[in-house]
Amino acid sequence: MNDNVFSVAIDGPSGAGKSTIAKAVAARCGFVYVDTGAIYRTVGLAVRRAGRDPHDAAAVAPLLPALDISFDYGPDGSQRMFLGGEDVSAAIRTPEMSMYASAVSALPVVRGFLLDMQRQTARRQSVVMDGRDIGTVVLPDADLKIFLTASPEARARRRLAELAAKGDDSTYEQVAADMARRDHDDASRAAAPLRAAEDAVTLDTSDMTLEQSIGAVYDLVRRRMAERAAL
Ligand code: C5P
Repeated sequence: MNDNVFSVAIDGPSGAGKSTIAKAVAARCGFVYVDTGAIYRTVGLAVRRAGRDPHDAAAVAPLLPALDISFDYGPDGSQRMFLGGEDVSAAIRTPEMSMYASAVSALPVVRGFLLDMQRQTARRQSVVMDGRDIGTVVLPDADLKIFLTASPEARARRRLAELAAKGDDSTYEQVAADMARRDHDDASRAAAPLRAAEDAVTLDTSDMTLEQSIGAVYDLVRRRMAERAAL
């Protein structure tokens, strides 16, 4: 582990508030926020555009070497995703792309392809990285690992509000069903299933406001930084 950089790994199921919390904590700490779900979504979009079956490794693998995926940060600190130079940040945020991302992310060939990109990013600078396997696979030596969760109802309500704000007219039932299916697929897949790392701190945000959740994560970061500085 590089002594000059600090890494925070945040994992958990969809809708637990990972992205919003991770982004806010990164801004407060002056760290870079890395949304790894957005990277999987971008691969999903590329597979969709190529007309390939996202569950079929033999159909997806040949596309990977030519994929030109990159990201940067907008003026408000939000992560922008590019596919072949095109800004696809909005295009990857649809319910269909959630399912494509979930499908391609179960393929070991895709996970292997993205592993180095994620690790390199954390090697260069202090990060708050969120995903499903950051503490278990991508950054097993992260300075702080947090498993962020919330009840299925709370998570479905939050995701519904997010989609509604973007003009999507999905119903609560649809969002809850999609989420339950994705939770199940993410947790039961053979390749890097969603689970808390043994040394992760679990935080249940069901009864917390967003500000309280951000404060709780920020406190954990501050405490761990102080502990590391004292070593
Ligand atoms: O976090 P988000 O909902 O954008 O992630 C989309 C999908 O990408 C997840 O359902 C999950 O299947 C996959 N993913 C993953 N590993 C990560 C991040 C996301 O498998 N580190």
